[in-house]
Order: sequence, then structure tokens, then C-alpha cells
Amino acid sequence: MDSAERDRRWVEEHLLQHGDMLLYGNLSYEMESVPAQQLWQEFRKVGESYLGRGIDRTRMIHSLVDELIDTLVARDRRFGYPPPFCHKGCCNCCHELVYCTSEEADGIHDFCASHGISIDYDKVQRQLGYVDCDRVKDHTGTTTWHNQQIEDQSCVFLHHTDKFCIIWPVRPLVCRVHLAEETDRYCKPFNGLENPHALGINYVELSYVLSVIFTIHRDSIKKTMGRLLLESKKRS
Ligand code: SF4
Ligand code: SF4
Repeated sequence: MDSAERDRRWVEEHLLQHGDMLLYGNLSYEMESVPAQQLWQEFRKVGESYLGRGIDRTRMIHSLVDELIDTLVARDRRFGYPPPFCHKGCCNCCHELVYCTSEEADGIHDFCASHGISIDYDKVQRQLGYVDCDRVKDHTGTTTWHNQQIEDQSCVFLHHTDKFCIIWPVRPLVCRVHLAEETDRYCKPFNGLENPHALGINYVELSYVLSVIFTIHRDSIKKTMGRLLLESKKRS
């Protein structure tokens, strides 16, 4: 058996478990151009390090992604590309529903409890009224998010006045990898649909990570962060 076949079998046994590989970001567009051997190798590499870390795995994958982004941005700068526009207080992207894993939601819940941050569950509940797809456990499709009052459209963790993320150290993966170049003007989606002018920065290296994590946590991603937070609260 060659090494690509061994990697594929490992991925089938440990990540897929009779489901499909969920492909994110670049991978969903570039499947045809990525050699199969590379796909299985990368999936296995990320999967092994994540599954091998036990209860610490969410923190590990967050650090890995942060470091990866720093490396990729530094590499791009050496080639003359500007860094992402993203900066503290820049928050157009924080006005849409957010997805995470159930373990990330538990981590956020614990972080808030230990830092005296009270989560506005009434707002979470109101927001869920505008996310039909969450109710039927299917995260695809449009929402009626922008029918909400303007103040309800922002994430419950966005600081009211200073517009920074109050759970920054434990923010979900999707928030970490969401990067834009040049401007924040097109970063606000509308009812779940990306602005067609959005200038996102998509690194294939991050797509491998997201694909593996959301394949492992396929049940979590059928729900929004709000739904998962309510479940964490119930469990605590
Ligand atoms: S993704 Fe857009 S809105 Fe969000 S921090 Fe980056 S530039 Fe700002
Ligand atoms: S968790 Fe933080 S970074 Fe993510 S959407 Fe909410 S406020 Fe923005």
C-alpha cells in the first residue's frame, strides 16, 4: 500500500467515519487542481495533531491557526502584498451569525464564567428567531438576520461602544480565519449571503484545518454559536 493510500485510509477511519469530507474555503473551489496525495496527507496531518490532543485540542488548534496566519501574512509581505485590513475595532464581519464547534462553545462559556462576563442569552434567543436554518439543523441557506433591530444584528460578544471582541482569546476558528484585504466596506454579509464585492483572503492551508475540524464536528456545524451556547449553559 503506498503512502497516499495509507493516508486516505487513516482519514476514512478517523475523520470520515462513513460521512463525507466537508470542504471549506479554497478547497471547495480547487479540488480538481489539488493532487489526491496532497489532500489526504494534509487532512491526516491536521487530524492526527487535533485528535491526539485530548481536552486541550481546541486551544491547540486555535494557537496553530494563529501562528499559521502570522507566518502566511509575513510570507505575503515578503512578496510585496499588503497585510490584512483587519484590526481591533473593525467589526463589520461581527454582524452576522457565527458558527463554531460545541467544544469551542463550551470554552467560551467557561471563559465568560471565569472572567465575570455575562452572556446576553435573551439576545441570543432573539437572534435565533431569525435563523430558520438553525432550527432544522441545516446551516445552509439564507436567513432573515437583517430583519432584526440593528442592535441585535451584532454578535453578543462585540463590545457595545468600543467594538472589540470581549472573548478574543477563545473566539471561534471561523472568526480567526476571516481576513479581508484593503477595506472593511464589503465585510458585512446580508442575511447569510456574502457581499459579492468582498475581498476575502483565503489561504488553502487554513482551508485544510477548517475542513478537518468541521468534518470531525459535523454535528456542531448544523447549529449556530448561539444555539451551542444555550446548550453549554444547559449542561453547566
Ligand atoms: S474581516 Fe473585514 S470587518 Fe472583519 S476585521 Fe477584517 S476587515 Fe474588519
Ligand atoms: S466572537 Fe468575537 S470576533 Fe467572533 S463574531 Fe463575535 S465579536 Fe466578532
